[in-house]
Order: sequence, then structure tokens, then C-alpha cells
Amino acid sequence: MLLTDKIFAITGGASGIGRAAALEAARHGADIAITDIAPVEAAAPLLREIESLGRRALYVQGDVSKPETAGAFMAAIKEELGGLDVFVSNAGICPFHGFLDLPKEILTKTVEVNLLGAFYMVQAAARMMVDEGRGGSIIAVSSISALVGGEFQTHYTPTKAGVLSLMQSTAIALGRHDIRCNAILPGTIRTAINHDDLSDPTKAEAMMARIPLGRFGEAEDLAGPIVFLGSSMASYITGASLLVDGGCFVNLQ
Ligand code: NAD
Repeated sequence: MLLTDKIFAITGGASGIGRAAALEAARHGADIAITDIAPVEAAAPLLREIESLGRRALYVQGDVSKPETAGAFMAAIKEELGGLDVFVSNAGICPFHGFLDLPKEILTKTVEVNLLGAFYMVQAAARMMVDEGRGGSIIAVSSISALVGGEFQTHYTPTKAGVLSLMQSTAIALGRHDIRCNAILPGTIRTAINHDDLSDPTKAEAMMARIPLGRFGEAEDLAGPIVFLGSSMASYITGASLLVDGGCFVNLQ
């Protein structure tokens, strides 16, 4: 039990990596707060599962790209759960598209959700942690593509590089408050976000060929590393970038 009686909040927790991380944190003894753009019905089975573990579950529907969502989420966490120990910025979108004809709307939306949304949320979570004065852990879900780029992700990879850089800078800004900030860099994980790409046998085979462990990741493969970084087991880790990619990055070098 790495998070006994801690309060663990995550964005984009209704599905995929966020869902798996929320459940694993509850298994490790944390109360869970989730915000997601999906309606509460989408998360109802997850919330029931968290409660069946004897932990409290709070769900606030919201769009992370709207600055007011961050304030509303933190206020609900304070009122319903009483504080915040671990915050995970995970919500993201990845609409694959070519570079030369990329519509401005896709660019703007991707930046607003992935980068500005992460900034608003991390800033609000940090403010709450600083006010409470008991330290904390902030984790942002970046991507291996922040390091290697991607032909159909020219609008996405800069947002993920930005999130990585945000964690490096906030690690410096918040260290004196005993708040640790780290980035997780997933490789190719089988979730809704890349379902279409992985359903294409040619693309899937090309991606698989680069992964030394010989399989795509599952959302659950990210859950343990997120809980670890949130816990006191990682008490001297801040400003770090943890690749969770089956060895893909080292194989690309
Ligand atoms: P997913 O689509 O299953 O989960 C994303 C979640 O974010 C969904 O629940 C969705 O409703 C929510 N969301 C989307 N836009 C939102 C918004 N504006 N406000 C609030 N919530 C919003 O995909 P996932 O793979 O679990 O993605 C989680 C994170 O992992 C993302 O930031 C993604 O960029 C990152 N990532 C995923 C992979 C991968 O291969 N799956 C690789 C690298 C990074």
C-alpha cells in the first residue's frame, strides 16, 4: 500500500491510462478525484469499483482546456475530500493529421487541451498544495513522441514536449514547498486514443517492430509507475522523465 489515506486526483480519468491509474491508486489506499470531459455515466463502473475498495470517489465533469475547470475541480476536492497529495495531469487528445494541410482548428484544440489544459490544472493543484503546506507530488503524462517526433503528430508532439518542460520548470519552482514534479512518457499504449492506428495492420506491424519487449503497452502498464512517482518511494525524484515504452526509445537511438 503506497498511498494509504492519500488524496489522489487525475484528469482524463474516465478511460485508458487515467482510469487504470485511478484504480491502482485506490488499490494502494488513496481516495480518488477524477475530472474528465466525459459524462459521469462513462465513469460510473469505475467509481463503483473504487468505492468497493473502501475508498472515496469524486467525479467532476469538465473540459481541462477551460481555465475555470481547474478551479472548480480543486474546490470540489477541497470540499469533498479535504485536501490533495498527488495530482496527475493526464487528459489529452491526439488527432492524427498531416503537417502541410493541418487545419488551424486541430492545432488550436490540441494545444488548448494538451498544453494549456495541463498548465491550468497543474497551477491550480500546486496552489492548493502550497496553501495546505504538506508537500505533494505532481505527475504529467507526456509522451515518447516529445523526444522523437512523429510525421502525423506535428501539432501533438510540441504539446507533449511542453508538458515535459513544464514538469522540469515546476520541479524547480515548487521544490522548496516539498512538491515533486515528474513526467511520464508512455510509448505505444493500447487505448482509445490510438485505436484507429493500431487497427491498421501495416502501421501496427511497423510500430511493433521498434519495441524490444515485443508488445504494445496496456493502460495498466502505466498505473504502477504513476503510483510509484506519487508515493514516498520516489521521495527524492523530481524533475525526472520516466519512459514507459517497452524499450522503444532506446531502440530508436
Ligand atoms: P484515452 O483517450 O483513453 O484517455 C484520454 C482521456 O482524456 C479520456 O477519458 C477523455 O475523455 C479525456 N479528455 C479528452 N479531452 C479532454 C478535455 N478537454 N478535458 C477533460 N478530459 C478530456 O487515451 P489515453 O491513451 O489513456 O491518454 C491519456 C494520456 O496519455 C494522454 O495525455 C495521451 O496524450 C497520453 N499518451 C498516450 C499514449 C498512448 O499510446 N495511448 C502514448 C503517449 C502518451
